Amino acid sequence: MPAGLLILLYLIAALLPLGLAWAQGLTPRSIADELASGAGILALTVILAEFLLLGRYRFVARRLGTDIVMRMHQLLARGAAILAIVHPFLYTSRRAPAPDWDTQRQFFVTAEFAALWPGIVAWLLLPALVLMAIGRTTLGYRYETWRLMHGLGAALIAGFGVLHALRAGRYSADPAMGYLWLALLGVALFALIYVYVLTPMAQLRHPWRVSSVTPVALRTWEVALHPARDFTFRYRAGQFAWLNIRDSPFGPWENPFSISSAPTAGPEVRFLIKELGDFTATIGQVEPGSRAYLDGPHGHLTVTERAAPGIALIAGGVGIAPMLGTLRELRARGDSRPTTLIYGNRTEEQIACRAELEALARDHGTRLTHILSEPPEGWQGATGQVTPDLLRAHFGGPEHRQWVYMLCGPPPMLAAVEDALIDLGVPARNILSERFSYD
Ligand SMILES: Cc1cc2nc3c(=O)[nH]c(=O)nc-3n(C[C@H](O)[C@H](O)[C@H](O)COP(=O)(O)OP(=O)(O)OC[C@H]3O[C@@H](n4cnc5c(N)ncnc54)[C@H](O)[C@@H]3O)c2cc1C
Repeated sequence: MPAGLLILLYLIAALLPLGLAWAQGLTPRSIADELASGAGILALTVILAEFLLLGRYRFVARRLGTDIVMRMHQLLARGAAILAIVHPFLYTSRRAPAPDWDTQRQFFVTAEFAALWPGIVAWLLLPALVLMAIGRTTLGYRYETWRLMHGLGAALIAGFGVLHALRAGRYSADPAMGYLWLALLGVALFALIYVYVLTPMAQLRHPWRVSSVTPVALRTWEVALHPARDFTFRYRAGQFAWLNIRDSPFGPWENPFSISSAPTAGPEVRFLIKELGDFTATIGQVEPGSRAYLDGPHGHLTVTERAAPGIALIAGGVGIAPMLGTLRELRARGDSRPTTLIYGNRTEEQIACRAELEALARDHGTRLTHILSEPPEGWQGATGQVTPDLLRAHFGGPEHRQWVYMLCGPPPMLAAVEDALIDLGVPARNILSERFSYD
């Protein structure tokens, strides 16, 4: 299914309750009252649809890219919060329990506490949840704690929001609309159950064992996993998986990492992990033989199947991980297309798998350019950042416009390289990039 169709389906789903409300043909009220109801209905629909934009559903993330799905999730949540906040203040009708003669709730906005309290709880929780997500890094929560609170808070908002709509809503009093809300709530809660219950249950049947943990650069490790039972993990070079090195797959202790091994190289799966926070800081102490679980593969940073005449890989720091998987796969397949790797780091010690990359350059003909922003004395290679001039020197020819470009690294670098490639005439569809952070 093309990405455009997926977005169209989302828009249809997001507008469905509004359409159903409109189709009821109730006697119109003031514009302000209609806007108030519309804002409430739209906010609730967007909130319920947020559960499908978790970046964990392959049929969505594979087409749009996990980072784009996460960005949509963040921006739509902000929009929903604004709509929800203004929703109660837009009403102009009298607030009182609707008398019997006002069967269509045309002249009164309900003031019954039983109808209002779920809405008030959801109304207070939603902006709090959005603000906590925006300020997550500054608030200093552990990522796992934040994730649990975020999931639980979102489930409460969805539940209370639907209860409020069913009890207080003028349009939601219609049985068809009521069933629609319950169905959407069911889908939303199922989406959470899928991630936190069904996926780990499926993982129980596919346990892994850590086979080795090897230092490959300063504070960077290559972790190899072997299936603990006989099963095949199918993935494409450049994809990523959620890794959980524990005895149980249940809980929030899983982190996304790009796969650095080649799919055709056998059942072993490898990751390149840089020490950063609480989990990754201890990665070097993981004992071989430890149990692990994987959720994947995810991600769309896959170029080996594309029919491009050449492949350019532009990596910053540990963004080399998916490139390594891709180069290893191209070598394993004997793919003779020209490949160029531009690999930026701060210091020389941070260059991961340097000997292997140089062997690839020698044996596979990969054009390899290291670039360091803090080079040591006597460094012969490129220095500074990946600039438009450097990219022009590598990809300035007309034939390079047909190449496929794979980008992974710090967000500012990705933005600069994407702009420079577009300026060189590379069509956007030939540029694939992945961010390692969803903030
Ligand atoms: C698609 C993708 C691929 C990645 N590939 C690699 C890779 O190949 N090698 C590598 O070293 N790093 C990779 N990362 C980054 C890696 O996931 C984080 O560095 C790691 O999760 C940090 O965890 P921590 O517990 O050590 O640090 P924490 O202090 O807990 O977190 C530091 C930051 O890492 C991010 N993070 C932590 N946990 C998660 C989580 N469960 N889900 C999403 N983000 C999280 C958050 O932005 C957080 O603020 C990738 C990230 C993404 C999104």
